[in-house]
Amino acid sequence: MEKLLLIKYGELTTKKDNRNYFINFLVKSIENKLAGIDYKIEKDYYRMFIHTDDIYMVLDKLKSVFGIHGIVVAYKVNDTGIDSICKSAVDVLSDVSFKTFKIETNRSDKSYEIKSDEVSRIVGSAVLKNIKGISVDVHNPDIILNVEIRREAVYLYYESHAGMNGYPIGTMGRALLMLSGGIDSVVAGYLSIKRGVSLDFVYFESIPHTSLEARNKVINLANILCNYGNVGNVYVVNFTNIQEYIYKNMKSDYLITFMRRMMYRIAEKLAENIGATAIINGENIGQVASQTLTSIKAVNDVTTFPIIRPLATYDKLEIIDIAKKIGSYDISILPYEDCCTVFVPKHPVINPKLDVIRSEEEKFDFNLIDKAIEDILIIKVPIKKEISEYL
Ligand code: ATP
Ligand code: MG
Repeated sequence: MEKLLLIKYGELTTKKDNRNYFINFLVKSIENKLAGIDYKIEKDYYRMFIHTDDIYMVLDKLKSVFGIHGIVVAYKVNDTGIDSICKSAVDVLSDVSFKTFKIETNRSDKSYEIKSDEVSRIVGSAVLKNIKGISVDVHNPDIILNVEIRREAVYLYYESHAGMNGYPIGTMGRALLMLSGGIDSVVAGYLSIKRGVSLDFVYFESIPHTSLEARNKVINLANILCNYGNVGNVYVVNFTNIQEYIYKNMKSDYLITFMRRMMYRIAEKLAENIGATAIINGENIGQVASQTLTSIKAVNDVTTFPIIRPLATYDKLEIIDIAKKIGSYDISILPYEDCCTVFVPKHPVINPKLDVIRSEEEKFDFNLIDKAIEDILIIKVPIKKEISEYL
């Protein structure tokens, strides 16, 4: 009996015609995750199997791969006859300590001559006869032994682990994440990767008003997202001249609105240049003055690009929970200033008016946008070297 890992696919099971497309992406994600480990993948339309000597190390790594619904430590029984299933079930359960049990059978091979309920009954009797001091409890058993009957073999398992669900990374194409050093945008990035989106990142900095440590923090956050299989670039935009221009020349209560419109303009051009199909950010309804629905509309006015806001409806505490889970929280709360916080007006407008914005923006020197795009610094992530080498 071989001990192996059986992978249950996540939501991709709903994708009929392009299921193989999803499965192939999943294989790629797993191969990336398991680089350096000895294993063999076997896959079909319904299940994937991983043969390896390092079962528990591989299991642990698979728990952070998107597109997997569950991972099961299974025993493969090649002889699918009922006597062989009974003997193997007894062998498997002899090594486990429990008082009550239940057998659950599932036949993906419907031509198998014995019906599922009957298989459960026969295997249950064999277990009762051969292991002392146990009983059947169908409602609340200590252990459930699953018998999965397939054409090529029978798989026995009682140990199931939850996967990450979602879609394998890359299946939904590439988007550009507006990544600041705060708590939200990295979480927005994580949720997008979970839906199969590969990410590049854009970060706006205002040196000397912001520090290299702030940039470093953003690169670290991008690196964290790469733990989920992402590979991409961080595009660092020098935003200093734009911010200073706005600060000196334009209506002060609208500063953030102007700044964010400039960010969107740059993000849109960059997204077009790199072939990204959407822009993603960490905006959240009502979190600050610049994120009231009216403000979001006023900022969104500069672009026709799809802007995805995965956190739009989340509470801050829900966002923090995810940030802690993915390991970004401790980095996000480091104190380095971000370019928006440096130039915050005393009383930012809550309901910005588009006619005011448009007439005020006539003063703006739009060459600064082109210049900022020309001067973008590109940093590949994940970074393996010391980050200080990139500063
Ligand atoms: P975060 O939202 O990541 O916690 P924040 O709260 O400081 O950071 P907000 O002012 O709420 O940022 O901005 C909303 C969104 O705009 C951010 O989630 C992020 O997607 C984007 N953004 C803000 N500042 C920057 C920046 N300097 N570089 C890139 N994107 C930014
Ligand atoms: Mg925020």
